[in-house]
Amino acid sequence: MAEKRDYYEVLGVPKDADDAAIKKAYRQLAKKYHPDINPGDKEAEAKFKEASEAYAVLSDADKRRQYDQFGHAAFDGSGGGTGGFDFGNMGDIFGSDIFGDIFGDLFGGSSSRRRNNNGPMRGSDVRTNVRITFAESVTGTSKKLDIVLKETCNTCHGTGAKPGTSPENCSKCGGKGQVVYTQQSLFGMVRNVQPCPDCKGTGKIVKEKCPDCYGSGYVSTKKTIEVTIPAGIDDGQCVRIQGKGEPGINGGPRGDLLVAVMISPDPEFRRDGYNIMSNVRISYPKAVLGGEIKVRTVDGEVIYEVKPGTASGTNVRLKGKGMPTVRNKEVRGDHYITLIVDVPSKLTAEQKEALVNYEKLLTGEDVPHKKKGFFK
Ligand SMILES: [Zn+2]
Ligand SMILES: [Zn+2]
Repeated sequence: MAEKRDYYEVLGVPKDADDAAIKKAYRQLAKKYHPDINPGDKEAEAKFKEASEAYAVLSDADKRRQYDQFGHAAFDGSGGGTGGFDFGNMGDIFGSDIFGDIFGDLFGGSSSRRRNNNGPMRGSDVRTNVRITFAESVTGTSKKLDIVLKETCNTCHGTGAKPGTSPENCSKCGGKGQVVYTQQSLFGMVRNVQPCPDCKGTGKIVKEKCPDCYGSGYVSTKKTIEVTIPAGIDDGQCVRIQGKGEPGINGGPRGDLLVAVMISPDPEFRRDGYNIMSNVRISYPKAVLGGEIKVRTVDGEVIYEVKPGTASGTNVRLKGKGMPTVRNKEVRGDHYITLIVDVPSKLTAEQKEALVNYEKLLTGEDVPHKKKGFFK
């Protein structure tokens, strides 16, 4: 660990600074380096920790006197001070109100005023998925989905209370809907604001529950909704349906339904970005002599003219025959075909004879071939 800096130096105050000057200096440093203001910034965190430690000592008359006399040795247990000073046991300092007014100032009075969780909150998004074919992903499609939608209970109008009664303020959070946990740490007092576990953040407790929704305020209903899937959608992409998610809290808007689209693989076509890839088999004579072949694309069959002397594995681009783009289905990728020269594994005697003769013409030799086995 690096050599500890002098506490006065850390706060940037002279040795004879009074309490007000020390507090003012720390307040400025805390505002600059507080972890809530610099989330994830390790350097700021270290600076904040250092300043907090210096302030904890210098703002306490007793500890300041010890520090002035013995320096850091006063608190590390090895010096001539009055016992060790371990920051791990600084509960009395961080738990006291010496930081209270500083953080009150930083965060506008009290931490409960920082954020009011009792206001309207948007409901959570709900996820589901749907499977479509490759062909449907090319043209776009629409699918009917059965979903379970939480809706406001008509009996209690969403309060969850039995008709004739009304919900009471939650006693745990005093109706605020949130609870503040104060943790003592080297970074000063860390205030952790969380939704109240008793009332789930609503601030209300239902004593007599509505018989129709068991106090939840919602009833689950099965709905069939239609989801429109745009042409060009890729495997794993989501379609968002607004307002079909979880209901909002305290009058907030509903969340959305996110439908993840799964695309069944096609035996012939593969997708790479907005391009489509496929293999097309051609005969050996066609590869050598060239000629027209029929090629399957997502638009149907097209005629392609194979060039004479085409090697197996040659890639050919069919422009604009790929996937439509989701934003504009008129804008499309390309279709790349790989021409594979077919090597037949079975030949008739006549075909075999033709090949043997061809080989003879090619090499000028009469190559002996087995009568049995591969060629029947
Ligand atoms: Zn109800
Ligand atoms: Zn509560």
